[in-house]
Amino acid sequence: MSNIVRTFESIEHGEAQEEIACPVCGSADSELAFMAKDRLFGRPGGYRLVRCTECTLLFVNPRPSFAALGAHYPDNYFAYSLPSDVPGFFEPLIQWLTRGISLQRIKYLEKVTGRLSADTQIVDVGCGINSLLYWLKKKRGCEGTGVDFKPEVVEWVRSQLGMPIEQGTLQDVGFDEGSVDVVAMTEYLEHESDPRVVLDEAQRVLKPGGHLAIEIPDPTGWPARTFKSTWWNLDVPRHLVFFDPDTLGKMVEQCGFELVSVKRFGIPFYVGTSIYQALGLRYSARFHWAFLLLAGVMGAPFAPFTPLTPEFLYAVARKK
Ligand SMILES: [Zn+2]
Repeated sequence: MSNIVRTFESIEHGEAQEEIACPVCGSADSELAFMAKDRLFGRPGGYRLVRCTECTLLFVNPRPSFAALGAHYPDNYFAYSLPSDVPGFFEPLIQWLTRGISLQRIKYLEKVTGRLSADTQIVDVGCGINSLLYWLKKKRGCEGTGVDFKPEVVEWVRSQLGMPIEQGTLQDVGFDEGSVDVVAMTEYLEHESDPRVVLDEAQRVLKPGGHLAIEIPDPTGWPARTFKSTWWNLDVPRHLVFFDPDTLGKMVEQCGFELVSVKRFGIPFYVGTSIYQALGLRYSARFHWAFLLLAGVMGAPFAPFTPLTPEFLYAVARKK
C-alpha cells in the first residue's frame, strides 16, 4: 500500500516530488516543525520537516520522488568512501572509531540476543564496507552476509575482505523464508522511501523469535533538538524519516515485531560536525577529510562526554 498522496514537478527543486501521508499511521494531517536545506551538496530548495499530528512522527514532506532520489546520492557521497580513500594520517583514528562503534553495536545486540556464535545467521542490510560483519567474524566467528546496492562497495568487500555480500536491496536478494537469526540495518532505515517494505521482508526472512537490529539518527537527543536544521544527522533529503522510540515501536509492531530494547549513543567528536554547520561553514565533498579534521577539532572538547551527546538510537526488535 503506497502512502503517496500526490506527485508533482517542483520548480524550486528542479525535480519530481511527492507528498505523502504519514509512513507510520497513514494520517494526512501534519504540521510544519522546521525548514531545512541540503547542506551536503547544496542542491536548491528548502525541505519541510513535518510532524504527524496523529502519531508525532517527524518526516520530510514533500520529498523527492523515488526516481529523483538517485541524484541526491552522487558518487562522492561520503558514505561510499572505501578504506583506500582514507588519507594515511587519518587511518589509525578511523580504524579506532570503526572498531569501537562496531563492538558497541555487538554489545547492544547481544544484550538482547545473548552471545552470538559461529552458527548465527546474520544479514546486514546496507552493510557498506562490512565493519559490523567483519568484527562479528573476528570476535564471534560467524560469517554474516552483507547486502548493499553500491557495486563498488560489493566488489571491495568481496575482493579485499573475501566475505559474502549480495548486491541490491534485501527484497532483491530474496533470502529463504525463516532462515536468518539476525537482520541488521545500520543507519539505513532513515534513507528508505518505504520503510514498511524492507521491514516486512526482514520479518519474512527471520526465524520465529529472530532479531532485527536498527540503528537510526536520534531526533530526541540534545544535538538534534539544539542544532535542528544544522544537525549533521538531519541530512535531508537523503534522510527522509526520523523515528523516535515511540514511533519506531509503532512501525515495527505493524510489521510483526516487538520492540524490546532501545539504547541512545554518541560517537566521539561527532558533535563537531553539527557545530561546523551551525557556524555557517560550507561542506564540500571534495574536501571531506579536511572537513572531518576541522569538525573533529571542534568536537574534541565534547569527546570525554560522548555518552551525554546522543546522536543515534540502537533498537532491537524481536519477530513475534
Ligand atoms: Zn502518523
